[in-house]
Amino acid sequence: MKTIRAVCPHDCPDTCAMLVEVDENGRAVRVKGDPANPYTHGGLCVKVAHYERRTYHPDRLLYPMKRAGRKGEGKFERISWDEALDTIAAKLKPIASENPQSILPYSYAGTMGLLQGSSMDRRFFHRLGASLLDRTICSTAGMFGMRYTVGASVGTHPETVDQANYILIWGSNIITSNIHLWRYILKARSRGAKIVTIDPLRTRTGEQSDEHIAIMPGTDGALALAMMHIIIPGLHRPVHRRIRSVEVARSRVSAVSRQ
Ligand code: SF4
Repeated sequence: MKTIRAVCPHDCPDTCAMLVEVDENGRAVRVKGDPANPYTHGGLCVKVAHYERRTYHPDRLLYPMKRAGRKGEGKFERISWDEALDTIAAKLKPIASENPQSILPYSYAGTMGLLQGSSMDRRFFHRLGASLLDRTICSTAGMFGMRYTVGASVGTHPETVDQANYILIWGSNIITSNIHLWRYILKARSRGAKIVTIDPLRTRTGEQSDEHIAIMPGTDGALALAMMHIIIPGLHRPVHRRIRSVEVARSRVSAVSRQ
């Protein structure tokens, strides 16, 4: 039995450090967090804490299956790889010969490994001449939003969060989906910081915050504008320089507040 150091392959910024115990046949028998990592502190989320069970689970899909009943009936039958490839090729070929760009590959990376994440499928669709799509649709939209508003796609360094005096959590269930950050938030609270969560849903994070503001779904924009209406007049010059379009924001906020 040997222990291998690894990192979680999922698309999650925490990139938890892991220790994987591997038996003499090269099979992973146990996965645990690496306590030596200064940020993730030996913690793994519930998805990954038993990763080896999922990897070797008997119900895992290991070969092509074809639907054998009506959609939703849950009936499938095993087919050969040749039959699976022929079936898909028979559908893609006529489309590709007429207009390959009418094929739009759409996916993102549940697993960020070089093989599973984005390698062979890219080559396949390029060869076919399919449309190009930045596969990170949600991530790219967020990145451009950040660039337009604050000038760069940046965030607060998580290890500095314990220095904050006021922590506003907006639409994020940190205790469930950003588990390591919560530790730093609690440190800030022990120094006297206030934690406020804005979320239509009363999540565990909302419950454990000092204040939970349950806005109606879709009213984030109105709340943000109302906050900007109060905040912008009090901004100091150094803060202005960090906001790319403070004048645009100021005129929009005053236009909305006049309505
Ligand atoms: S929190 Fe979970 S999914 Fe995210 S990096 Fe850690 S183990 Fe992986």
